[in-house]
Amino acid sequence: MGNLIRCITSCGAVMAAAVDATDIVKEAQKIHKLSPVATVALGRLLAGASMMGNALKNRDDSITLRVAGDGPLGSVIAVSDSNGNVRGYVSNAAAKVPLNNKGQLDVASAVGKEGMLYVLKDIGLKEPYNGSVPLFSGEIAEDITAYYAISEQIPTVCALSVSLNNDGSVNRAGGYLIQMMPFATEDEIKRLEDGVKEMSSLSSMFALNMSLLDIVKKALKYYEVEVLDEASAEYLCNCSRARVEKALISIGKEGLLEMANSEENTNIECHFCDKTYNFSAAQLRKLASK
Ligand SMILES: [Zn+2]
Repeated sequence: MGNLIRCITSCGAVMAAAVDATDIVKEAQKIHKLSPVATVALGRLLAGASMMGNALKNRDDSITLRVAGDGPLGSVIAVSDSNGNVRGYVSNAAAKVPLNNKGQLDVASAVGKEGMLYVLKDIGLKEPYNGSVPLFSGEIAEDITAYYAISEQIPTVCALSVSLNNDGSVNRAGGYLIQMMPFATEDEIKRLEDGVKEMSSLSSMFALNMSLLDIVKKALKYYEVEVLDEASAEYLCNCSRARVEKALISIGKEGLLEMANSEENTNIECHFCDKTYNFSAAQLRKLASK
């Protein structure tokens, strides 16, 4: 059994995905040394991106979500491939904010309530598809819902949850994403709304150890559900020395020579996995001549 499932109702009106991103968020926390609120914010975005990525059609497709709010986290970025494998980072991994009035980690304040959600889909076209919406709440799930409603006109229900243990380590993380197909009737929309209304919160369903399929079936209680696809999604960075070289070449000859002249050794760090690639001045000069 994978940690990501994609389902459809037998009438074809509703698509649903659910992901258990616990290991993904644990890995992100380990790589980036994330503060608790940074873990929850990036964890939610990674879970959302994983489900959105898994819905892409072609193997080489990818999707990038960037939440750019005015809070102390700075930008929160997640990239998914078409399997749902994700990677991501936040500008300020150590960000801390006071708990909200419910005594919970205040993701909305850490992200910032003013800002944008940018969605970039690379689906093999000459220009990638670009969409953006103003942040709805900074809580991530609602921002993804708003993106689909405004930018793609797809009625969507999205829930994302990252719960932490007392010591700040990740307890459980994941989400679900439910979307009406464009031809859905009023009655079908109502049946989905009724099912979602009767649902308990995602974190409480996770606490009960419900399976992903059971969670989807709760939301689609008034439908018959078929599983379309099961995937094993993980935290995966696709960086390589060749890719870093390509990025360096794109800086241009002048910039590269300047780098080579100022340092004997230049370390380039991958934002997504913190791996370091070392280039000597001679190697940079060689790249400059390409
Ligand atoms: Zn990397």
